[in-house]
Amino acid sequence: MDKYAVRQVFRQIAASLALKGDNPFRIRAFENAAQAIAGYSGDLTEAARSGALAEVGGIGKGTLEVVRELFTVGRSSLLDELREQVPPGLIEMLKIPGLGVTKVRQIHAALHIETLADLEEAASDGRLAALPRFGTRTAENIRKGIAFLRRSSEFHLFHHAWAEALTVQRALAALAGVRRAELAGSVRRRREIIRDLDFVVVHDDGTRDALVKQLGAAPGVTEFAGKEGAVTLRFASGSVVDVFLATADDFGTTWVRATGAATHWEQLEFRARARHVDLRAPYPDEESLYRALGLAWIPPELREGAGELDAASDGKLPRLLEERDLKGLLHCHSNYSDGTVTIAEWAEAAKHAGYEWIGITDHSQSAAYAGGLRADDVAKQHAEIDAASLQVPGVRVLKGVEADILADGSLDYPPEIRRAFDFVIGSIHSRFGMDEIEMTARMLKAMDDPCLAVLGHPTGRLLLSRDPYAIDMERVLAKAAEQGIAVEVNADPHRLDLDWRQVRRARELGVTISIGADAHSVAGMANVPVGVGIARKGWLEARDVLNTRDADAFLGYAR
Ligand SMILES: [Zn+2]
Ligand SMILES: [Zn+2]
Repeated sequence: MDKYAVRQVFRQIAASLALKGDNPFRIRAFENAAQAIAGYSGDLTEAARSGALAEVGGIGKGTLEVVRELFTVGRSSLLDELREQVPPGLIEMLKIPGLGVTKVRQIHAALHIETLADLEEAASDGRLAALPRFGTRTAENIRKGIAFLRRSSEFHLFHHAWAEALTVQRALAALAGVRRAELAGSVRRRREIIRDLDFVVVHDDGTRDALVKQLGAAPGVTEFAGKEGAVTLRFASGSVVDVFLATADDFGTTWVRATGAATHWEQLEFRARARHVDLRAPYPDEESLYRALGLAWIPPELREGAGELDAASDGKLPRLLEERDLKGLLHCHSNYSDGTVTIAEWAEAAKHAGYEWIGITDHSQSAAYAGGLRADDVAKQHAEIDAASLQVPGVRVLKGVEADILADGSLDYPPEIRRAFDFVIGSIHSRFGMDEIEMTARMLKAMDDPCLAVLGHPTGRLLLSRDPYAIDMERVLAKAAEQGIAVEVNADPHRLDLDWRQVRRARELGVTISIGADAHSVAGMANVPVGVGIARKGWLEARDVLNTRDADAFLGYAR
């Protein structure tokens, strides 16, 4: 059980108490404890055992008892008790924007509603709107909130799922009888959005039953279901984990099956039937399974059932991009706009991470919301970049900008200012509501500007929260290929834009792709490997990617 799971338990206790109308001081104690746990930086398990946790501010006697119980028996008897008294649907309702404890209690008392489904109905049929202090507008917002909650609570962004998967992997590897624990499923395939986590665990012969028991007893597990060769665990934190059990003999078979999309496995089965190969036969590693089918080993990112078998059979699999192929770090915001990092600090960080060059790209003047760089400050920023280049030898700092593509399709700044930069990324940050014809025309017009080197986050989507704007991407990509303009894979895990499905199309059309960190702090450099995963899912090789080039070749392309 990690600190986020403990925090979740505290939050649920606090919410349940509030919905019951319990003593406000008691509720506050659990809310404070939730915060204290989330901010605790030491080893929580150890601190709970030794009692050191009692010294942490925000943790009192009652809350400490809950933590002890969580770490010893894996559940909280207080929460179990509260679950009997407060319908869980009411706690879910608190996650809807605009619905607080008072309103939820009112809904429950007046309409006897206990589930989200019933609430949704009441929001649609006018009952909710008729309640005192509600009205049609509130009812409509609640209806939207439920739809959003549905979409977002089942799914997790890749970087969150990845971090959690590594924690679970370590826990699995530490179990008695486990020889090896490997990531599988959509995390291993580097999908942009993850529903549940999959693992393959290799255990010693004859230890399967004991292992299944251990899994069921793992801390934080609230539900447990075993099916043929696999175990599904539901955690208090809401995570769902599937563990596939294998022996060393059939590890390869199990791993391929647990990793690929359903269509990938179906296509393998189809091929196996045609070639009279038995896929139920044990294969100790993935290579031998693919080999038996006359296929080269297929990188996990490509196992989506989208032509990878043909490529593997014809020797036409791409040599996928690797993170170490990147020579330049692109799309970095400094303290000249909404970044937290000075230019000299960026140069140091890029050098330290092994990059040959870095492209600083602050927001342009029209991006007032992001403290865009005013035309008057451009010269000052450029002088600072030149100074940083001298100050930090071994890394070249390039003068870029993320210029707004304005509503009429022109790029921000007068032309003479734009030309002062080494390169320009053009991005849309406003007027997302245009229709497809207007939006496409806007983008195509921006691409006629000779300064434009890269199209930034080309669809504007925010995963799980904002859909892409309407745009004819096929026309945009065709023009990018024709004009020699690169298209970004924005590596911010909330964006991952261009989508990998379109990345693959871009590659077919001959478009160069740029991997943009869109980093606003040094920590934002961790976006890069996530972006590389998406580039790999889009079948990209090093030569397809703009920032695998050295600084001179990059500038040659950009100008
Ligand atoms: Zn942007
Ligand atoms: Zn940006």
